[in-house]
Amino acid sequence: MELFPLALALAGLTGAEASATTPPAADPPPRALACLSKWYPVEPVKVDGAWHFKLGGATYPWDDGKAKSFEEKLASPDLEDTFSIPYTPGPITPVTRENEDPGRIRFDPLFLATYGASEAKVDVVGIDFLGQRLKVHREAAPAFKRVAKRLSDALAKDPGLRPYLTRMAGTFNWRKIANTNRQSAHSYGVSIDLNTARSHYWEWAKPKSPVRWANRIPQVIVDAFEAEGFIWGGRWYHYDTMHFEYRPELLDPACR
Ligand SMILES: [Zn+2]
Repeated sequence: MELFPLALALAGLTGAEASATTPPAADPPPRALACLSKWYPVEPVKVDGAWHFKLGGATYPWDDGKAKSFEEKLASPDLEDTFSIPYTPGPITPVTRENEDPGRIRFDPLFLATYGASEAKVDVVGIDFLGQRLKVHREAAPAFKRVAKRLSDALAKDPGLRPYLTRMAGTFNWRKIANTNRQSAHSYGVSIDLNTARSHYWEWAKPKSPVRWANRIPQVIVDAFEAEGFIWGGRWYHYDTMHFEYRPELLDPACR
């Protein structure tokens, strides 16, 4: 699914040039940066010989050149850092490697510029999701609806999935992540939490440390979301198994 017709038009133009007699650009942008413009209003540009990108009226470096710890990447990533831990869909496996949290590193300006910089600016619409009314971002609504179709088909085959998919805990909610100053992905209307009663969250574990991954969410539910560009919090060392988030750039093979 393409969010931005302009980006699509530009991508088409690039394709046309590549197939014509002119040689391909000698110095293309980094693969992930080029791919991001498929999904977000990001325009790669060179500034003083280094790749940057234009976004929401500002220009940012792709790579700020700083060496960062995991905590520093969470707190102040550049856009390149958000790809530093690959997201791997497929069979569910326990996450045991410390800080393997693909998708938890978020470059906030990307989401603020794409989905809305304040609660009032986020363009939410109501959708029916398995009989529940949910508020999600207009741009992500088609993807949510495709997930609902997949889950509805799965439910028809296995009614035992129902308890995971009732009393879903939340979608659009403009807020900070608990105990942090970072904006939650729920702020943009691109995330959903399933029934908390069937979920595990590292912050709720007793004792909290050491972190011990746990999960009950069935494979078929994870597959339905990942097929439509949603990452799952059960792929994280700091697990949050109720949480799914629309991050098509992390599931698009062209961005890896
Ligand atoms: Zn969540």
